[in-house]
Amino acid sequence: MIFKRLSTKLSVMFGGLFSVALLMIALACYMAVVSYARSSVQKELQASASVFNRIWTLKSDSLQTNAVLLSRDFGFKSALATKDTATVESAFTNLQSRLNIETGLIIGPDGQPVVGEKGDLGRALAGALAAKNEFNAINGIVAVDSHPYQAVAAPVMAPDRQGWVVFAQRLDDAEMQNLQGLSSIPIKASILTQARGGLWLGPQEQVNDYKPSTLSFFIDQSLHTNAASMIKSGHGTMIAVATSLPNLDGHQKSVLLLSYPLNAALKSYQPLLTVLLGIGLFGLMCVVMCSLYLARSLTRPILALKDAAFALRDGRPGQVKITTHDEMADLASAFNDMAVSIEDRERDITRLAKTDVATDLPNRSAFEDHIANVRDKGTENGVVVVCIGIDRYTHIRAVWGVSYAHTLVSRLQDILARIFSNAYIARLSADTLGLCLSPCEAAQALPLARAIAARLDKRIKVTDDQSLDVMVSLGVYHIVNSRPAPDEMIERALIALDQARAGKAKIALFDPRTYSELADTLLLTDQLYAALASKALQVWYQPKFSYREGRVTAVEALVRWNHPERGFVSPQRFVAIAEETGAIRDLTTQVLQTCLADQGRLKSAGFDLDISINYSGRLLSDEAYNAMALSLCDQAVGQICLEITETAVIEDPKIGLEAINTFRSRGLEISIDDFGTGLSSLAYLKQIPANELKIDRSFIMEIESGQRDALLVRSTIDLAHGLGMKVTAEGVETAASFTLLQSMGCDIAQGYGIAKPMPFGELVLFLNDFIGVGEAKTKMPTYRNRKAAS
Ligand code: C2E
Ligand code: CA
Ligand code: CA
Repeated sequence: MIFKRLSTKLSVMFGGLFSVALLMIALACYMAVVSYARSSVQKELQASASVFNRIWTLKSDSLQTNAVLLSRDFGFKSALATKDTATVESAFTNLQSRLNIETGLIIGPDGQPVVGEKGDLGRALAGALAAKNEFNAINGIVAVDSHPYQAVAAPVMAPDRQGWVVFAQRLDDAEMQNLQGLSSIPIKASILTQARGGLWLGPQEQVNDYKPSTLSFFIDQSLHTNAASMIKSGHGTMIAVATSLPNLDGHQKSVLLLSYPLNAALKSYQPLLTVLLGIGLFGLMCVVMCSLYLARSLTRPILALKDAAFALRDGRPGQVKITTHDEMADLASAFNDMAVSIEDRERDITRLAKTDVATDLPNRSAFEDHIANVRDKGTENGVVVVCIGIDRYTHIRAVWGVSYAHTLVSRLQDILARIFSNAYIARLSADTLGLCLSPCEAAQALPLARAIAARLDKRIKVTDDQSLDVMVSLGVYHIVNSRPAPDEMIERALIALDQARAGKAKIALFDPRTYSELADTLLLTDQLYAALASKALQVWYQPKFSYREGRVTAVEALVRWNHPERGFVSPQRFVAIAEETGAIRDLTTQVLQTCLADQGRLKSAGFDLDISINYSGRLLSDEAYNAMALSLCDQAVGQICLEITETAVIEDPKIGLEAINTFRSRGLEISIDDFGTGLSSLAYLKQIPANELKIDRSFIMEIESGQRDALLVRSTIDLAHGLGMKVTAEGVETAASFTLLQSMGCDIAQGYGIAKPMPFGELVLFLNDFIGVGEAKTKMPTYRNRKAAS
């Protein structure tokens, strides 16, 4: 594109168009002037030509009358016939001097000059007339050395032709000037002659002005058309006309050339042309200026619209000033309307983005903005962020309904706003309010939280007819002279809130130590996912010793994670993470698959062992997963027992019992793990159709020292037996507890005293080499001993 700017394009287009029109008008005017000038000169030239004609005729008539008179004189005739030269001469000179005839001659019967001019002119005239056969007088031009003469010849008849009386008059410059003087304009007149088709000859100063070929062409043309036309000369362009003149000599042509310089013709129009040129230039200037103005005025509103659009894009107010009443004004007003509605919408969007729609309170994003503002003003006087969590919010919402829950939040905000009028309060999530206060010294942070708790932790009137006992937990984060990111500050207050809840405290200050644990947990979570994906987890086995059979009849599968940097990670820790994140499914599946394979390998090695697998309570409610686990267990070559912690079954008895029944019906054994930690009543056990009860190791490890625990274990064993369950004691570390448990009727012992959990390879060796290991240290009955004994 040549023109980058619309205004330049418009200017050039309009300016160009008008200039061309103007130029054409100027050209037309000029041509009209020239043609008018030419035609008036032409008329003048033609008038001059006809004047010359008349003068010619008059002159030749008078010469002719006298020549005829002499030629008819009887005495003259006979004198000529008798060659009486003296008489002829006297008659001729007499007449010549009387009539003041410039030159002339008498030609005898032999065609030769008798009297008068006998030089070149005489010979030329005699030559010209020799070929003539006329009986009447004739006239025409005769040229000698390019000098033209007007000649008249009258035949002398007696009765035959005896000769000629010839009079001639030189057509000199004076003659021509006379003619020029007759014209109203100073034309140039000259007579040109041409002998036998040669060059046109005439006065030097006239003929030399033209190129011979141009002149000859022009004369032919002019004679043909009979009109004046242009011819180029050494002094510029001429308007000229050539008219043919009679000739005495048949081999000669002659013309009267009348010319007038075009410049001179135009001279009188010069002022007019100047004025025209002036008007043209002025017009051109106006056109250019108008084009510029027009282009500017057309593009100015467009530029204004562009600027406004850019402003709108950059989030500044984009309004266009309307100055006209045309389509541009319509466009501008439409644009303004659009800008207004965009701004409105943007305001709405911003408001919605910063507001909790249900309560119309500022939301977390608004809270962050506020903290950023406060922080940027300086934190040397301290800033506190308090996160207020409404306890049992889910429960309240479920019982009283969503809108009631929202009203409760609004009410709490009202109360806080009334007490802490200079605090900023926002709703961070459904059950959490955030409060930011500045200035606030470090020592004031906890008292502030306590004041909030004191005001909110009571019966609060939510609606006119309903009140509610509210309980809140608070997380507090205080900064002074530091500048953490706003979201980080909120996050830390929220972590403090979690810490409060986890610690069953009402209020907690953010504790950086726990915080770093949390961060580490996040890292560990990522690594656990990676370990699961690369199947890096292993399964170790801990033997279970049956008192009745006197040998290891089963093993418990325990997952192990040997982290490349951290070493062995506690299963308690990563299993908890897996349960939180849902990775527990993948983990359990991998353990199950390994156990099934290992059970097959053990069987081939001659060991028919039951395998107990820990089945997380979280999985119990996942029907799809249960079905999958069941179909996997169907492939087992031996007995599989699922250990389910007591607490999991108590938390959701309906689903737990259903799942347990399904597992049982498909041939799996169920064991109640960690019994004694879940505070369930023994009577409640009746409902759980388990095969085994595992007494938690915290009871077993105290069994030797404390009377109370021994009693508890004994009665638990009895009750379990009464309910048809076998009993496994966990954490059997010493020979004393081993025998004590046996005496109490316990069925199975599991613990470091028998064996620690070990990898599969070691398990096979262990099963082979069991003899003597326990005996030396603990006096526990060994596998081989018993086998040998039975
Ligand atoms: P748990 O089911 O109660 O497993 C028994 C835990 O007691 C094991 O800890 C075991 O090493 C330990 N233990 C056994 N005998 C003794 C002893 O005589 N003295 C002491 N002090 N401890 C003994 P471990 O392997 O660290 O496992 C911890 C918990 O992690 C398990 O408790 C179980 O709840 C969970 N867990 C382990 N593997 C899995 C698994 O594959 N799936 C699931 N869901 N949980 C698992
Ligand atoms: Ca277990
Ligand atoms: Ca246990």
